[in-house]
Amino acid sequence: MAEQKKMVEAITSMDVDFAKWYTDVVRKADLADYSSVKGCTIIRPYGCAIWENIRDILDGMFKETGHENVMMPLLIPESLLQKEKDHVEGFAPEVAWVTQGGQEKLTERLCVRPTSEVLFCEHYSHIINSYRDLPMLYNQWCSVVRWEKTTRPFLRTTEFWWQEGHTMHETAEEAMAETERMLNIYARMCEEYLAIPVLKGRKTEKEQFAGAQATYTIEAMMHDGKALQSGTSHYFGDGFARAFDITFQGRDNKPAYPHQTSWGMSTRIIGAIIMTHGDDNGLALPPAVAPIQVVIVPIAQHKEGVLDKAEELRKRLSAICRVKCDASDNSPGWKFAQYEMKGVPLRLEIGPKDIENNQCVLVRRDNREKTIVPLDQLEEKIPELLKAVHDGLYQRALENRENRTYTATSMEEMIQLANEKSGFIKAMWCGDLECEMKLKEQAGVTSRCMPFEQEHLSDVCVCCGKPAKSMVVWGKAY
Ligand code: ZN
Repeated sequence: MAEQKKMVEAITSMDVDFAKWYTDVVRKADLADYSSVKGCTIIRPYGCAIWENIRDILDGMFKETGHENVMMPLLIPESLLQKEKDHVEGFAPEVAWVTQGGQEKLTERLCVRPTSEVLFCEHYSHIINSYRDLPMLYNQWCSVVRWEKTTRPFLRTTEFWWQEGHTMHETAEEAMAETERMLNIYARMCEEYLAIPVLKGRKTEKEQFAGAQATYTIEAMMHDGKALQSGTSHYFGDGFARAFDITFQGRDNKPAYPHQTSWGMSTRIIGAIIMTHGDDNGLALPPAVAPIQVVIVPIAQHKEGVLDKAEELRKRLSAICRVKCDASDNSPGWKFAQYEMKGVPLRLEIGPKDIENNQCVLVRRDNREKTIVPLDQLEEKIPELLKAVHDGLYQRALENRENRTYTATSMEEMIQLANEKSGFIKAMWCGDLECEMKLKEQAGVTSRCMPFEQEHLSDVCVCCGKPAKSMVVWGKAY
């Protein structure tokens, strides 16, 4: 037990210093490590396994909806990046450039992709000819580089891994429907698999993606009340198509510009999992993406038959879940603490007494509830308990969001709430950039989104008193 205590003491309590707690968990749960390039991190096997599970689920949903994977180049010629004015302006400050190849200075510098709209557009201009070629539904899994000034593992890193979907459609309506469909897939990913409740909504023009006509977002609330943008989906209209001269022959035989979307979810979402579900004992993983769903810890494993029984159970349970048996010579107490730190949803304890009674003990990571289960009922009980852990995590996150969501109807109220509380603040807005900037300056909040589910809190803008156009959720964000 002394070892267990030592391990737990080594992480900072989340109420004392949330940022420090976060980096402690990242390190102690073996998720990531720093590299010699500032801002670039190494995602370690355990972190990688979580990402692989997320990727597999998302990729399945993409394919189910007709999308295909491609692999585009890493480098973008400067002239290509500059074709769409808003886009290049948005990304220019954070682009990394390649200026030399081998011994030769390049005649045109190449940027390391910060996102791949322009590469897809160039390709689409070659392969889209007729309305019969549409829709074009492509996605790629890759890493991108954005030169960040301040970085934190998973949340903001210079290089990060993601998927980027890029689609082309015959009509604006179809492209709008795609933008929404993909946002809904991200919301499903968060709620049904990651146990993270999200707000779906539209970004204000200020927060929109560079070059987009509309950006939709899912916003999650972290345990400390701050927001994390967890996935975005953009509608571009035909702006890029015009800039890249992508035309197709329409059903009326006339040339037309296709309508475009792009959408992305990144390894940032692992940061969201950590900060939504974690506690002072470490990570708490949603069962759907946990690399280990059940860890078997043998008790008094030196006694005859214990390790054999544990191994027999591991083999049997591998048919229904991702299971590991830890037969190392660390003490059970040390193992308990380690797998709690790693967020394993269920722990299965089995010792000589249990074997005698043909039972074992199952312990939930989310609330530490213990259940004694007859060994012949494990196949029913484990899926039930994994579901209960998912529901428990979701419920706790939802309650946190509800408890930390406030309403402001005046600027004084807004400033006071922003200073004293950490969470989402709902307020009406006139739609003017000037008010949005004022809220940032005076209250330190940014608009998170205009939720699809609107509420009417008052008739006037919280800032200027002019007629309000929509309800906005404001907050501080990662
Ligand atoms: Zn206003």
